[in-house]
Amino acid sequence: MSTLAEIQNFKGKYPKQLWYLFFSEMWERFCFYGMRGMLAVFIVSQLKMDEGTANLQYGAIQAFVYAFTFIGGLFADKILGFRKSLFWGGLLMIAGSLILSLGIDIHQSLESNHFWFFLGTSFTIIGTGFFKPNISTMVGSLYHENDSRRDAGFSLFYAGINVGALLGGYACIAIANSYSWNLAFGLAAVVMTISLVTFIFTQRSLGPIGLSPLNEGKGNKIAELAVYIGSLVLIPVIMIMVAKTEYTDYFMYTIGPAALVYILFELRKYSKAEVNKLIAALVFIFFSIVFWGIYEQSGGSLALFAHENLHNTIMGIQFDPNGINNSANALFVIIFAPILGLIWVWMSKRNLEPNTLIKFGLGFIFLAGGFFVFYQTKFFADANGVTSLEVFTLAYFVITFGELCLSPIGLSIMTKLSPQPLQGMMMGMWFLASAYGQYVAGIIGAGMSDPNPKASLMEKLISYTNGYEQLAIYSVICGLILIAISPMVRKLMGDVK
Ligand code: GLN
Repeated sequence: MSTLAEIQNFKGKYPKQLWYLFFSEMWERFCFYGMRGMLAVFIVSQLKMDEGTANLQYGAIQAFVYAFTFIGGLFADKILGFRKSLFWGGLLMIAGSLILSLGIDIHQSLESNHFWFFLGTSFTIIGTGFFKPNISTMVGSLYHENDSRRDAGFSLFYAGINVGALLGGYACIAIANSYSWNLAFGLAAVVMTISLVTFIFTQRSLGPIGLSPLNEGKGNKIAELAVYIGSLVLIPVIMIMVAKTEYTDYFMYTIGPAALVYILFELRKYSKAEVNKLIAALVFIFFSIVFWGIYEQSGGSLALFAHENLHNTIMGIQFDPNGINNSANALFVIIFAPILGLIWVWMSKRNLEPNTLIKFGLGFIFLAGGFFVFYQTKFFADANGVTSLEVFTLAYFVITFGELCLSPIGLSIMTKLSPQPLQGMMMGMWFLASAYGQYVAGIIGAGMSDPNPKASLMEKLISYTNGYEQLAIYSVICGLILIAISPMVRKLMGDVK
C-alpha cells in the first residue's frame, strides 16, 4: 500500500488517482443531474402539481440533497471515513433510482406515484449526502498542503462533474420525453452502478486516504452499523419532510444555525490563525448561498420555462429544450474550464491573477450577465410567448464563466482553509450553502411563477423573465460587495491565496 507521502509526491501535473476519482464522480453526476433535470418537469406533468408548488418542491428536494452532504461529511470525518461513506451513499443512490424506475407507473393513481416518487428521492437524498462531499475531500487529500497544483486538480475534477452532468442532463430527460420515465430513472441506476464499480477499483490506489478514523475495535463497528441503520431509519422521516414543504422550512431554519453552532464549538480547539481561516471560509460559504440561489433556477423555474416557452432549434438543428437547459452549461464548463485555467496562469505569471475573493466577485458579475440575457429572451418571443433557444443558450454561456470563477475554486479553498480533522465537515458546509441556495432558489422560482394556473405562455414568459432581471440586479450588488470587502477577508486567510 502506498503511503500518503508517496501519493502526494506524484510527478507531473495530476496524480493518477485523480483520474479514477474523476470517473466515479462523473458517473455519479450523470445520475444526479439526470434526476435533477427530470424533477420539475416530472412533478408538473406526472404528479400534476402547479408550477409554483413544483418550484418549491424542486427547491425542497435539492435543499435536502445538499443539506445531507453536511451530515455525510460529518459522519465521514468522525466514523465511517470517506471511502465507506462514499460506498454506502452510492448504494443508496442506486436503490433510489431503482425505486423510481420500478415504482412509478403513470397509469396508476396519483397517490401511488407520489409515494414512489418521494420514497425514491429520499433514498437519493441520503445517498448523495454520503457520496458527494467525501469524494471532493479525497481529491484534496491527494495534495500536500502547499502544493500549487491543487487548483488545477480541482478544475480537472470539475470537468469530470460536468461531463457527467452533460450526458446525464441531456440523456435522461430526452429519454423520459421520448420513451418513458421508467427507462430514464433506470438509466440513472445503471450509471450509478458504474460509478461504484469504478470506485471499488480506485480504492486500491488510495493508500491510507479515506480510511475510517476509528480503529477496527468492536465498539467502532457498532458505531459504523449505527450510521448505516440510522440513515435507513431516517428515510421515512425525510419522505414526510420533503413532501410537505413547510417541514422543509423548519428543517432549513434549524440545520444551518445548528451547523454554525457546532463549528463555533469546534473552533476552541484551534489556533488564532486557523480560526481566522475558518472565518474566511465561512464568508465564502455565505456568499455562495446567494450565488446558488440565483444559479439554481436552472433546475426549477428555468426547467419549466424551457419546457413550454422555448423553440427547439439552434442554428437549424433540432434539440430538446429541456435537454439544452440541463446540459448547455456543463458543455461550456468542459470547453472553457481549461481555457480559463490558462488565463489564470498567464495572469499569475504577470502578477495579475485576481485573488479568490475577487474571483468570487467576478463570478457574481458573470452570473448577473447571464440572467440579464435570460431577461432579454422576452424580446425575442413570438406572439405565443415562445422564444429563442439560441438566446437562452447564450445566457448559459455567460453564466458558465461565473460558475468557473466560484465553484471549483470554492472546493479548493475549503480544503486549503480547513485543518485536517475538519476537512469533511467544511466541505459539507460548502455544500450546505448549496442546500440553502437550492432552497432559496425554489422560493424565488415560486415567487416568479405566474400564480394563475390558466396563465397563457406569454404571461408566464413575462413573469419569469421579469424575475430574471431582478436576479441580475441582486447578483451585481453581491459581486460589488465581495470586491469591496476583499482586502479584509484576505487578511483572515493568512498565507492561503
Ligand atoms: N455543479 C457542481 C456540482 O455538481 C456544483 C454544485 C453545487 O455546489 N451546487 O458539483
